[in-house]
Amino acid sequence: MTYRLRHVCAVLCACLALSVAGCSNDTPPSNSAASASTKAQHAAVAEAYDLRDSASFAAAQQGLIAAPSGQVRNADGDVIWDFASFAFIHGAAPDTVNSSLWRQALLNNQVGLFKVSEGIWQLRGFDLANMTLIAGDTGWIVVDPLTSRETAAFALAFARQHLGEQAISAVVFTHSHVDHFGGVLGVLSAEEAQARQVPIIAPAGFMDEATSENLLMGLAMARRASYMYGQRLPRSSTGLVDNGLGKAVAFGQAGILPPTLIIDQPTQALSIDGVPFIFHSMPGAEAPAELTFSLPQHKAFAGAELVSQTLHNLYTLRGAKVRDAKQWSNYLQTLLTQADGAEVLFNQHHWPVWGAENIRSFLTGQRDVYRFLHDQTVRWMNAGLHADEIAERIRLPASLDQQLSVHGYYGTVKHNVKAIYQFYLGWFDAQPANLDPLPQADAALRYVALAGGAEAMLKAAQKAYDDGDYRWAAELGKHLLYADRDHQAARELQAKAFEQLGYQAEGTPWRNFYLSGAYELRHGLPEQAFSPAMMLDMLRHTDTEHFLDSMATRLDAQAAEGKSLRIVLDFTDSGARYLLWLENSVLHHRTLAAAEAVERDAQLSLSKDFFLQMVIGKAGAASLLTSDEVSIDGSVLKLGEFFSLLDKPDGRFAIVTRSE
Ligand SMILES: [Zn+2]
Repeated sequence: MTYRLRHVCAVLCACLALSVAGCSNDTPPSNSAASASTKAQHAAVAEAYDLRDSASFAAAQQGLIAAPSGQVRNADGDVIWDFASFAFIHGAAPDTVNSSLWRQALLNNQVGLFKVSEGIWQLRGFDLANMTLIAGDTGWIVVDPLTSRETAAFALAFARQHLGEQAISAVVFTHSHVDHFGGVLGVLSAEEAQARQVPIIAPAGFMDEATSENLLMGLAMARRASYMYGQRLPRSSTGLVDNGLGKAVAFGQAGILPPTLIIDQPTQALSIDGVPFIFHSMPGAEAPAELTFSLPQHKAFAGAELVSQTLHNLYTLRGAKVRDAKQWSNYLQTLLTQADGAEVLFNQHHWPVWGAENIRSFLTGQRDVYRFLHDQTVRWMNAGLHADEIAERIRLPASLDQQLSVHGYYGTVKHNVKAIYQFYLGWFDAQPANLDPLPQADAALRYVALAGGAEAMLKAAQKAYDDGDYRWAAELGKHLLYADRDHQAARELQAKAFEQLGYQAEGTPWRNFYLSGAYELRHGLPEQAFSPAMMLDMLRHTDTEHFLDSMATRLDAQAAEGKSLRIVLDFTDSGARYLLWLENSVLHHRTLAAAEAVERDAQLSLSKDFFLQMVIGKAGAASLLTSDEVSIDGSVLKLGEFFSLLDKPDGRFAIVTRSE
């Protein structure tokens, strides 16, 4: 029983879908070279756009105070950030990287401490997002302290080294994505925040979104995120070169501090450490909870992640709810007015935009790319086109297409169009044949048979590959590998087709997905899934109800059929008590009043911290039996039966082949 308990708890929490692009020590795989048609496509891109883009390169380098070097390590001594790992990104685009993406990779490689304007600095390239420092009367106001405690601490120490010792006088979280708050404990401890009453400002809904946003889908999202962010890819010209928004994500310890000041009005003026701020709430576009702000005294505007030097995601490929393109564009229209008078626009990814006219034109492009995609997708939807047909047909107008700041380095036009379709019409395209089609793996067996067997289909796939028709080659390869995952020649050909598609992609999530697919075809599944241990500081602030909701989704409904079990979970430190009961193969939970008597089969009493230690897999069976913090009343057998009904997925599912 205790083993099951430990094991179940180790997986019930899952993780937030933190993007986990760690430093890979793998030797580079034997990737294919770029084909003639891939090279021709790169040449066409280079011809179509001004990729030298001297204005962007000047902006990305403007105000550089110092560039860091070396590595950032975690408490165990593992490297979680290596400033030299992208040193290969310089000079002309290699023929295994889309020329336009190479430009973005070069721009994101401008790493260091930068002066944005008087009293405003940014640390860029210390993690996926930027950390911004604003001089207040008594110290620095930190905006968005990166993803990991380790990189945030390193960045702050680097700033102090070059700007002088300063205390942290306030923290602003612009939104609820972990790359913008996870490192907060690296710049300010909970004790210090409490002792000095340091204001922590966040948009309404921040805490709940930040701690629970992806808890239910954690395992699926983490697995998919490892593809999207190229976690397993070597950093090389045939592997990971960039992540669109920045180079990579630091795979360190993530935490959170609860906000003390919530921005819940559309516009809210506040003085923070003597600096006048005007905050603007902008929820439900890029993130469920998000704010932007102006600094009137500095003639500066902070666009958070509503704006960036790329087309952003209306749907993020790691898996997420789709975002509202029209709302996003409406916010940017508002932002044009709010930023009026600003001489610099700085955001939480990428380099700033200086000059009123540049800001206006940059924001106009951002506003219009989302609105254009929205309106034209809806137009074609009403003409009866399906999502894939619209994605194939839609082209940005030249006036937008020539602005590289709206190119799809992170979101892409094609997958954003599908997101808009999904937002309004959902998954069904109204084709009756798509109402109840055979599952893909079943259909694959029949397609392969119809093609005259695997060898005949492989021959057709090889011809498509030789012709540079990689999308069709990959489609045929998908059927082959859904029919027979061990077909070695099909695996190799599919890996090669994915590589050419990856080399051609302008968007980093596409490149990383293709190249990760190729990588796994050659190297197999990862040995272990993402560990939630790195999220412990954050999980401490997550409501227990979210864990219990997550636990309910692990119920093996078939095994639970006809069973009725009632378990009380009693947290000895907080006094919180929950009744968990099975009914109709659903695991329900509700809070119990402190003295409420309830019929039960068993009661498990433990501290919240011990519960979390089990959740992250640190407390095992032995400690469960021997710890003074745990006691079991009632039927141990029933408690064991209860936990035996919960799945223990390991998050290592197959993606590019049939799973079994
Ligand atoms: Zn971000």
